[in-house]
Amino acid sequence: MKKALITGANKGIGLEVARQLLQKGYYVYLGSRNLKNGEIAVESLKGEGLTNAEAVELDVTSQNSVNSARIEIEKKTDVLDVLINNAGINGVKFDGNTPIMHTATDTSVAVFKEVYEVNVYGVIRTTQAFLDLLKKSSAPRIVMVSSSQGSLALHSDPTFIHYKFKGAVYQSSKSALNMYTIVLAYELRDFPFKVNAVSPGSTKTDFNHHLGAGSVEVAGNRIVKYALIGKDGPTGKFFSEDMQTETGEIPW
Ligand code: NAP
Repeated sequence: MKKALITGANKGIGLEVARQLLQKGYYVYLGSRNLKNGEIAVESLKGEGLTNAEAVELDVTSQNSVNSARIEIEKKTDVLDVLINNAGINGVKFDGNTPIMHTATDTSVAVFKEVYEVNVYGVIRTTQAFLDLLKKSSAPRIVMVSSSQGSLALHSDPTFIHYKFKGAVYQSSKSALNMYTIVLAYELRDFPFKVNAVSPGSTKTDFNHHLGAGSVEVAGNRIVKYALIGKDGPTGKFFSEDMQTETGEIPW
């Protein structure tokens, strides 16, 4: 049975990705920074008959937590087939239903650090910690849950639908994640890895006070597709199914 680890899997898109991978026959470790919340999520999946799941305490901002998760998982398996780096925050406060976007001119470095700690350094920490287990898989897959908001090409194109939705912190964190994805895919090019960044599209979750456009089912499906891609599939690419390009690929 193939094994997958998902960060931030106790709710939102991460939980749905867990559900869909379980339905595909994977054994899923649900990373959750609060173990209790992870266990509640696992119980809800078990209630749906999806029993091959367990919660693992994993706070991506803590090296100790990531190391402990690595030790816990290694006690149970010596191979990991899929890593979904899903945990993410935007650090955005809301005024009613209106997000207060982070300006480039006066947002404090502390806010950048808080968001980068999860969206960038958290991904690096987790990926590096689990890379040796992934290398033992015959077909390792890493999916970075990114955002079209992180595309430098799109955000400098005035015809981009979200051109005016500018925020200095979250958007730049996903741009940094994107470049990490490109370099990681390049370094792993001689292994059977597929490493891709996927934008799930605007989705109703706690992340945006449920003001997103789409469902977690659709978002989860977009991510799972790249966790399951075959040996001839792409690597080092950026996909966003909701941008309606011919192949789903979008510019970095
Ligand atoms: P969500 O419902 O807020 O879920 C975020 C998940 O990340 C939660 O499980 C949360 O755990 C976890 N998390 C936060 N900080 C963490 C940390 N330090 N360590 C481990 N886990 C942590 O948001 P979502 O919409 O599902 O977002 C999932 C991913 O999709 C994010 O990377 C986001 O950037 C991306 N995305 C979302 C949208 C959208 O419209 N929703 C669009 C594009 C991209 P807690 O429950 O403990 O907070």
